[in-house]
Amino acid sequence: MNDDIRALVRAELDAISAYTTPKTIEARSTGLVKLDANESPWPLPSEARARIAEEVARIDLNRYPDLRATELRDAIAERIGAHPDELVIGSGSDEVIAILLTALSAPRPGRARPAILFPVPTFVMFRLNALAHGHEPIEVPLASDWSLDVAAMRTAIAASPPNLIFLATPNNPTGNAFADRDLEGVIDAAGGRALVVLDEAYAWFAGRSLSSWCDRSPAIGALGTLSKVGLAGLRVGWARLDRELAREVDKARQPYNVSAVSQRIATLVMRELWHVVEQQVAAIVAERERLGAALRAIGTDALEVSPSAANFFFVRSRGGGADGGDAGALARELAARGVLVRSFHAAGGRLSGWMRITVGTPADNDRLVETLRALV
Ligand code: PMP
Repeated sequence: MNDDIRALVRAELDAISAYTTPKTIEARSTGLVKLDANESPWPLPSEARARIAEEVARIDLNRYPDLRATELRDAIAERIGAHPDELVIGSGSDEVIAILLTALSAPRPGRARPAILFPVPTFVMFRLNALAHGHEPIEVPLASDWSLDVAAMRTAIAASPPNLIFLATPNNPTGNAFADRDLEGVIDAAGGRALVVLDEAYAWFAGRSLSSWCDRSPAIGALGTLSKVGLAGLRVGWARLDRELAREVDKARQPYNVSAVSQRIATLVMRELWHVVEQQVAAIVAERERLGAALRAIGTDALEVSPSAANFFFVRSRGGGADGGDAGALARELAARGVLVRSFHAAGGRLSGWMRITVGTPADNDRLVETLRALV
């Protein structure tokens, strides 16, 4: 890149390191146990794949996809108990987050840029998207048990009124679902003057969804995705919003953002193959309970395992020191033995001892536990 072009790049992008995870194909071909990306460990069964292949063969790929994704929105609406007009769809909820930031970007009077508020640690794309869009990210630390610090959020909201507040529940990477009264406390603090977005990427594993809270107020929205329940490769996510708001936000969406292939497969899965997804979710939840017990049995002097309502655990390597061990070093040791987990060591501070471990197949989890036991 020459200097003249470099000067055109938004300064905030310098502060961002690109989002990376090791390549899935490399992991599979080398027999690595991939527990670093919160995916489902199981591909769809062969009958479901055959049915999908049949359906894909019918798509006229010479044509653009349905501009409004009518069938897909109908299928999602039915599945989550919403109205199709309340939905804005995206290539994963990542894109929906970007669409929301694009649409709700009018700065408040007297302010140069819009602000986006969220607790930390949380899903990195809230911060990344805020920076990439030129919005001000406002980060409010979670309490030491990873619950929402409602008082601190209330103060931050008053000091610098945000356009959007993102609350991922269950939260990534901490795994806990926030208490209803705390979520309600933040919604109350926002006072209808900011859109509060409940990101429910992991709600499938929590056994309940808060998406119906959208009916309580037009200032509440919810995000959903198929990525964690066996369809990460499809890239299908959505926002449920007040209808009038959904109509405005949808104008910021690229017209053909979800491919005809993804629209068709997602519709088929939600209409005809949902039992397969439900089986996977139930199996992951059962494995979560088993893995949690096995990790805790390694011993609290070696590992601290946070409670999880998601498909992963947030685990602290104690490593002997008062502040905990070096999760980066432990993650590297695990990787050297063929088990990939996500370390938060690089984030520093109170996260330096922590890593996030996705629930895998029973065999994956056994291998993880054996390897950890040998290391800590
Ligand atoms: N929200 C949260 C809280 C997440 O953890 C993730 C995935 N890492 C997403 C949204 C994005 O999911 P996708 O774009 O695959 O729908």
